[in-house]
Amino acid sequence: MYEIWGGWVITSDGIKENYSLAIENGIIVDMGERNEMRKKYKFDDSIGKYHRIVCPGFVDAHMHSYQIATKGLTADKSLLEWLKKYIWKWEGELTKEKAKACAESAYLHMLHCGVTTFSDYTSVHHVDEAFKAAKKFGMRAVIGKTLMDRNSPPKLQQGTGTCLKESEALIKKWHGKNNGLLSYAVTPRFAMTSTDSLLRGCKKLCSKYKVLFRTHTEENRNEIKWEKKTYGESIIRHLDKLGLLNENALLTHCVWTSKKDIGLMAKRGASLAHCPGSNMLLASGTPDIPYMLEKGVNVCLGTDVAAYYNFSMFEQSRLACLMQKEERHDPYAMDHTRAFAMATKNGAKGLGLHNTGEIKVGNKADVILLSTTHLAFSPLNDVISQIVYSSFPYAVDSVICNGKVLMREREVLTTDARKIMYRAKEILGVKK
Ligand SMILES: [Zn+2]
Repeated sequence: MYEIWGGWVITSDGIKENYSLAIENGIIVDMGERNEMRKKYKFDDSIGKYHRIVCPGFVDAHMHSYQIATKGLTADKSLLEWLKKYIWKWEGELTKEKAKACAESAYLHMLHCGVTTFSDYTSVHHVDEAFKAAKKFGMRAVIGKTLMDRNSPPKLQQGTGTCLKESEALIKKWHGKNNGLLSYAVTPRFAMTSTDSLLRGCKKLCSKYKVLFRTHTEENRNEIKWEKKTYGESIIRHLDKLGLLNENALLTHCVWTSKKDIGLMAKRGASLAHCPGSNMLLASGTPDIPYMLEKGVNVCLGTDVAAYYNFSMFEQSRLACLMQKEERHDPYAMDHTRAFAMATKNGAKGLGLHNTGEIKVGNKADVILLSTTHLAFSPLNDVISQIVYSSFPYAVDSVICNGKVLMREREVLTTDARKIMYRAKEILGVKK
């Protein structure tokens, strides 16, 4: 048994000062005032200092590790130009070695940003590399092969049967593995590249193996016209008819989703992965997050890398607030408390993960320590507000996932960070 402690601990019950968590077998088994805890237990190790904030690990509910090599090349493009000229081209050329380098460098970057749990949409091929990297790092990961069975480039499009067969094989190989840290998600890319028979097959897999269903929906205004023409209704209604809109569904974007459909999402218990940075960078628009929250939709946050360029959940929380205030000319449209919940406990719920996302007794020890010796926290007046509006990933001091220390005082313990960075430069760099 060991302790994690700090001057401020963000628990499910509010912020506690000079507080300590007792960790055993990956679980927070007790917590309380530090002096009391030290009398009560004999700890083998102590992680923390007074000048630390103990915070739930961030949950990045939507990212694409295999796209990170396009960093810097794809900025300031339209969604379709970004997708067709760069992303699909890159994904089509992906080798096993490049997939490994992408996954490892993405997860390393996330670790430095205080992310303990993530939802990675890999590409069509070499999905094993992402699972292997997540296992090596010791992070909590929901990973899935992207499925495309129509309107797609030849190197990425597969037959419906192949999409489903390969997904099922990956579920059997990885779902629930590494002490439950790895989960599978059935992942059709989006409506335009998914036939109805593929979606029906996805439904069968989700029901049979109790795995998450996730897809991109209504990111761009043009998709709405296409849905009307193709289905005679919205993709949200269509997914509902196919039995895919339920508590097990995590939709991403919903920028142009109607109020009526938001009501349906709430009724069915579906979650949203909101990616404000990506929506702004690709000029997709502003989703009606305040209305979604009012209706009771579980809203999570995602970086959507590589439709964005870094894995900072501090930044996405901040953008989630700023985007709504600016759009509505209303300073109360979104606040730091709700944004912080989206980046932590809502994310865990949206990924179907229980006992994580919050610091409380009985939950998994998925926590990070933030250093308050940085100017972002000097003076320290409001912990959550300053995490959302003032902080950057450099404040992340230590990262613990499932009770295992993955980074301690900025040193990554589970992998060779320098080797990964070197390989990323060598293998992924664009030769000019
Ligand atoms: Zn995406």
